[in-house]
Amino acid sequence: MNSYDAIIIGSGHNGLTTGCYLAKNGFKVLVLERRDTIGGAVCTERMFESPENPNGFLMDVGSSVHIMIHQTGIIEELELTKYGLEYIDMDPIMSYPVSTGKGVIHFWKDVDRTLESISKVAPEDVKNYKEFIDFWGKINKGVLKAFMTKPTTGGIIAELAKAQIKDGAMFKKGESTSGLQKILSSYGKVVDDAFDSPHMKAALLWFAAQSGPLPDHSATGDFAGWQSMLHQSGAKHPKGGSGMLTQAMKNLIEAHGGEVKANHPIMKILIENGEAIGVQTEEGEEFRAPIIVSNAHVQTTMMKMVGREHLGDSMFKKVEDINVGNGFGMVIRCAVEELPQYTAAPDDPYIHNGIQLMAPSVQYMKNAIGDYTKKLPPEKPAVLAMTFSKIDPEVAKDGKHTMFVWAQWHPYELANGLKWDDIREQEAQKIYDVVVDYAPNMKGKLIDWYIQSPLDIERKHGLLKGNVMHVEMSFDQMFMFRPIPEMSRYETPIKNLYLSSASCHPGGGVFGAAGHNAAQVILKKSKKKKWFS
Ligand SMILES: Cc1cc2nc3c(=O)[nH]c(=O)nc-3n(C[C@H](O)[C@H](O)[C@H](O)COP(=O)(O)OP(=O)(O)OC[C@H]3O[C@@H](n4cnc5c(N)ncnc54)[C@H](O)[C@@H]3O)c2cc1C
Repeated sequence: MNSYDAIIIGSGHNGLTTGCYLAKNGFKVLVLERRDTIGGAVCTERMFESPENPNGFLMDVGSSVHIMIHQTGIIEELELTKYGLEYIDMDPIMSYPVSTGKGVIHFWKDVDRTLESISKVAPEDVKNYKEFIDFWGKINKGVLKAFMTKPTTGGIIAELAKAQIKDGAMFKKGESTSGLQKILSSYGKVVDDAFDSPHMKAALLWFAAQSGPLPDHSATGDFAGWQSMLHQSGAKHPKGGSGMLTQAMKNLIEAHGGEVKANHPIMKILIENGEAIGVQTEEGEEFRAPIIVSNAHVQTTMMKMVGREHLGDSMFKKVEDINVGNGFGMVIRCAVEELPQYTAAPDDPYIHNGIQLMAPSVQYMKNAIGDYTKKLPPEKPAVLAMTFSKIDPEVAKDGKHTMFVWAQWHPYELANGLKWDDIREQEAQKIYDVVVDYAPNMKGKLIDWYIQSPLDIERKHGLLKGNVMHVEMSFDQMFMFRPIPEMSRYETPIKNLYLSSASCHPGGGVFGAAGHNAAQVILKKSKKKKWFS
């Protein structure tokens, strides 16, 4: 039997990030993935090959837009470009075509260019946006630091205080208190207070909603404030598709003597005397290592692979009680004949570079949320489109285009006896129709599509209830509360069993921070062990 220093269950980007850091530090790493392809929710697949489109289309089946990972330094530290990763800038990062009449707001990486665009559609908010970005930029300096280390009680407050001391007059008198108050407020209120134009309110609310919690949830203010960080990192898409990130990570692990195996679903973590010693696949194959890291969902890991017999009733219940929410959104991956031509911005040369936000007003989103709370799919979904074939010809080589359309809010559990397998096509059509409302040229331009309802997302990725962030990103499940206080520092009650996924601090999205932090904890502990042995 091969011997390994660490086994990682799951090949999502957080698990692979941990694997990369361990491999670079001399660990022999084995990654075991349930699916037939690696990457978890950072994965691209070729679809819809036909005589007319012999190359098919490269479709992301999870994430597409990489933002947060570019704020962490992970890509540079791991030197992932040496392993095949090449990023393409999405600039403007996002655009908001006005649903009634003409005009589009482009949010460029460059703040001044953004202000110029805002001045054409919402001149009343030019100053407000500048102040908003400055204010939240200061706060988020501290927040980002707290994200890149294991959480401590009061970590975010401590980081804010440290940043304040370090940067001297970073905040004017009273500003830091006001910052804390805004963080503790809801992002719906933060946006409403900060802007006057209905278009700016709708654009920023819709983008902030991508983190999951509803706009009136308390302590979500920074979901809107994170807009400030976009102007520092920009948004990017890997050439060839989102999955090229995880492919590069796999290449790094293999180049350092590790192995990454698909088609290896783990059924059980082997535990002896309260200590993890290995894993067993569904087919009964066993692998052993002194360190086991799970990148799978925390409930899958602790309730299925560990089990009540090792956790005890009270810890098992705590894990069971983690709030996973009730679904989030759904997505259609379309192969299309041409790009959408927006009525609001005909012939705009930039709009297809980034995210195209389609939510006509705050009230429109409130209506969709109203349907969601009744456990019904939205009558009119809020959507955002991404057209990567415009900036990356690799993904559609036969002269056609890709258009991914993400929509919210779609409950996983439905009322009135509705079942996702029965309604997925009709809900997908509603999403496509919103694009047609904005860009009438798209009528009849669909070549084929791959639909992902909340149930499809759960089935494919093991993302329970279709929550793309693993567990709810509500404040009571962030920082030292994520996923539960007893497991918030990447360790578990089972000795040598670690967690490394979006289930942990600082949460979901293409970020890598949880994987990075878990690796730091493991490396620190194993250094100590070597010292004493
Ligand atoms: C449709 C969709 C769109 C998204 N869009 C974006 C976006 O544009 N931008 C963004 O920032 N974020 C986006 N996200 C969210 C983001 O992709 C995820 O939050 C993040 O990738 C989670 O990474 P992870 O490594 O923590 O976990 P995961 O990617 O969930 O990885 C967990 C891995 O564990 C594996 N696994 C589970 N059980 C077992 C088992 N028994 N044995 C072995 N392996 C197992 C899974 O198959 C998976 O590979 C999106 C997600 C989805 C699903």
